[in-house]
Amino acid sequence: SKARQKGSFLFFNTAINQQVHLDLQREAALRLALENNEIDVVYQPQINIKSGKIHGVEALARWHNDRLGNVSPVDFIKIAEDTGLIHDIGMFVLKKSLLDISNFNSNQDQPIAVSINLSPKQLNDAYFIDKLVAAVTDRNMEHRLITLEITENLLIEDLASISPVLERLRDYGFNLSLDDFGTGYSSLSYLSNLPINEIKIDQSFVNKLLTSHESESLVKAIIAIGESYQLTVVAEGVETAEQLAQLSHYQCHIAQGYYFDRPLSVSDLCARYHEHLN
Ligand code: C2E
Ligand code: CA
Ligand code: CA
Ligand code: CA
Repeated sequence: SKARQKGSFLFFNTAINQQVHLDLQREAALRLALENNEIDVVYQPQINIKSGKIHGVEALARWHNDRLGNVSPVDFIKIAEDTGLIHDIGMFVLKKSLLDISNFNSNQDQPIAVSINLSPKQLNDAYFIDKLVAAVTDRNMEHRLITLEITENLLIEDLASISPVLERLRDYGFNLSLDDFGTGYSSLSYLSNLPINEIKIDQSFVNKLLTSHESESLVKAIIAIGESYQLTVVAEGVETAEQLAQLSHYQCHIAQGYYFDRPLSVSDLCARYHEHLN
């Protein structure tokens, strides 16, 4: 039995070592990712449910590495936050998406909006707002066309330091969105104190909208909360016509998901959504 214990310990140890090794490999590779042009941004359309027209896009980071393959943002954003690389990567995603969407809008009758995911670490950077405003001024984008998404959970953890930053961002005319709404604390008291103007229903609720009464009630409740606090409500992860019909029935404003589009490269976005002006 001692031998078995030793064996399973070795196995366990090896598994941990492999994980640590993989993390270190990723960390080392991520440090070089920006210089090697391995980070890319794709855009997922957000559709106005009433008009059926494109309202805007969410910018989503992608990392392609020759040795590691395509690493999901779920994995590399965490490493980026832990190593401080999030500041450079976040600024890259911001600048690239402002460039792409201002170009898109320059041939467009009605400009579309762009939503950008922010890590709370970026908001705790004293120079973040200055860098953001400079980047937006460079591209001549209207502030009202820019939405900054912050995950509800992470925001609440850092509420005291982040809420004055959010106040300043609102004063500049940017939109603020609470991402993955309903998965976190969901205490309503902070909703009236924070300067946010949008909530995003997490895809886990949309996914079970037609199969779970609990999810259905939650979606209805979130839309009602949006109504009473005068917030735009976005549903993410919409995959079927039935889910869309139900969301439309509850008067959700905006939908995003594979039913409309997967995240698209900027050229695919233009090919699909550009109005052709004569
Ligand atoms: P998120 O902000 O909740 O983004 C939505 C995720 O759901 C995206 O995954 C998107 O591709 C996926 N998705 C969209 N529609 C559907 C659908 O109909 N069905 C299903 N099953 N999934 C759908 P992605 O691109 O892998 O991003 C994962 C997360 O990584 C994001 O979650 C966001 O929290 C984070 N992230 C991505 N880009 C950035 C970034 O530039 N900065 C920061 N700080 N975080 C980022
Ligand atoms: Ca998001
Ligand atoms: Ca989300
Ligand atoms: Ca999410």
